[in-house]
Amino acid sequence: MVGNRHGYAVVVSPLLSLAKDQRASAVDLGIEAEAWNSSIEPALKRRIAGDLQDAQTTLRLLFTTPESLETPDLGDALRAGAASGLVKLFCVDEAHCVSQWGNSFRPSYLRLGEARAQLMPGVPILAMTGTATAAVRRDMARSLELRSPVVVDRPASRPELCYDVVFREALEHERKATARASDADEEEADPTLQDLAAFIEAQGTKSGIVYCVRRETVDAVARELRGLGADAAAYHAGLGSSDRARVQDQWKRGDVQVVVATVAFGMGIDKSDVRWVVHHDVPISMEGFLQESGRAGRDGLPAISRMYASHESLEQSVKLERKSRRWGEEGTDEEATGSMVGYVSGEGCKRLSIARYLGEQGRRCAEVENSEPCISCRDRQQHAANVRRWQSYRSASGGTGGVVGVAWRGVGEPAAKRKRPPALGVVLGASSLWCKGNAFAVAPHGPTGPSQVPALKTITNGNKRRAFVPPRRIGE
Ligand SMILES: [Zn+2]
Repeated sequence: MVGNRHGYAVVVSPLLSLAKDQRASAVDLGIEAEAWNSSIEPALKRRIAGDLQDAQTTLRLLFTTPESLETPDLGDALRAGAASGLVKLFCVDEAHCVSQWGNSFRPSYLRLGEARAQLMPGVPILAMTGTATAAVRRDMARSLELRSPVVVDRPASRPELCYDVVFREALEHERKATARASDADEEEADPTLQDLAAFIEAQGTKSGIVYCVRRETVDAVARELRGLGADAAAYHAGLGSSDRARVQDQWKRGDVQVVVATVAFGMGIDKSDVRWVVHHDVPISMEGFLQESGRAGRDGLPAISRMYASHESLEQSVKLERKSRRWGEEGTDEEATGSMVGYVSGEGCKRLSIARYLGEQGRRCAEVENSEPCISCRDRQQHAANVRRWQSYRSASGGTGGVVGVAWRGVGEPAAKRKRPPALGVVLGASSLWCKGNAFAVAPHGPTGPSQVPALKTITNGNKRRAFVPPRRIGE
């Protein structure tokens, strides 16, 4: 590689639209930048290809996608540019897309390490992501062929975010009780949507996103919210690209307050004043949850992450998450899903639960400077009572799985009494995954990492599966 004071960085983004937005933002800042993707005109491609190889180039940033890197036009130009010392840096944005652990897995990202070796050997590489567990980091290093990388880490805590969990069964229960007391018609609107509409109304004109797991839910929720007076538009991959672009633009400008969307919405959208993100369903993975909720409060001002959790949606998320796994390494499934279960069902601090999931020691809301208290830290006792009531709705409804929480003597008792060893728990009809998740959730010390969950054995007895937790306290 020849030294050259001229030169540029190549930035790979997972989405074409993201590459375009990033280029526009760089140009606004006075930085000379281009975006190369499949949709640009041949004449523009020729001009950029020329710039990429020009020893006097003034280009500083080239945004592109992994697919474009594999095209001969761009590949040849970059190879020539790198040979002349013009490619100063290869940057992989949203680098968690190399990992099967995230919900944003992109197969084309797997070939980036090879592309770098072929097109620009020896060029420094920078991989960036907002959320990465130890497993995702390992995947990133392996896939991008990083040797002894320098890891620059910032605590994942987002002090400006208030984490909130609302239990849908509890809302339903309340609605029935109120209807009985007032002799009213029980068959009115879905209480979750009513609660959500009231939440949105309380936000005034502040922008927000409602995420749903399925497209059908997106359409229905957007329709119902409009019926309840909210200014909401739907967004999912089933809509035409012009409709999607229109919704996105209207929302970005503030002409539409709420976008109800699948996870197809939001990656790379540069809108710093999103004040709230609601998950109408339990997300498929903790990583997805963190990416999505992290779109609120990017300007550093207080923002809300609220999740409407139900037993059904939690189980659905566990199932979908399993299906989306590309390589099913036995046992490691639980590392991802168990923690989503733990976050939802845990009585302890949500911020701490997230930090532990990411492998950090973490701190409770009160210990984090200027942090917005989570639902548990606002009123620990009330939240714990809500969690336990919610768990009991499941047992009462005769679901397929028991709750291992009942196995832990001391849960729900005063702190002094919790020192007694927990009882042996037997859970009928529960999957080991479910039990493990709930074992995180109800551990006396709050949610813990998967490695701290004691070995959990499943016994098959006829058609009934039983799982039991050895009589040992988690964390000891
Ligand atoms: Zn907290």
